[in-house]
Amino acid sequence: MKERTLVLIKPDGVKRRLIGKILSMYEEKDLEIIQLKIVDPDLNLIDFHYKEHITKPYFKDLERYFLEGPICSIIIEGEDAIQQVRNINGKTDPKEAAMGTIRYMYGESKTRNLVHASDCKESAEREIKIWF
Ligand code: ADP
Ligand code: MG
Repeated sequence: MKERTLVLIKPDGVKRRLIGKILSMYEEKDLEIIQLKIVDPDLNLIDFHYKEHITKPYFKDLERYFLEGPICSIIIEGEDAIQQVRNINGKTDPKEAAMGTIRYMYGESKTRNLVHASDCKESAEREIKIWF
């Protein structure tokens, strides 16, 4: 089924000039970039996006990470886009991510893992509204 999902290229991805490489990995799988922008989110926006993680021990690190600089927010569309994009990104921990995934190739740690992608249809709808 054709669906839409939200991707964020986190601050290190933008700073390391990886936007082009990351986008081409989605496009190669026949996914389409519907909207794209560079944003400098404030803490409220970050906390709202990651509200399910606020009580987690890694949350402060996550906030600091997201405040390092601009991020790139993207709406991606395609067949089974939500799962496809998560497969291309790889597991949360780059050490566990499959070879060839974005997090395997470029991720530095469990926190600094370069990309975010919605995890289900409801999150995709919610997150697209947050960032667009
Ligand atoms: P994903 O981004 O793979 O959907 P989660 O939704 O579980 O992962 O977590 C959101 C983000 O919080 C992760 O992408 C990562 O940046 C950070 N994070 C998650 N779990 C940990 C952890 N155990 N230690 C450090 N950072 C984490
Ligand atoms: Mg998640």
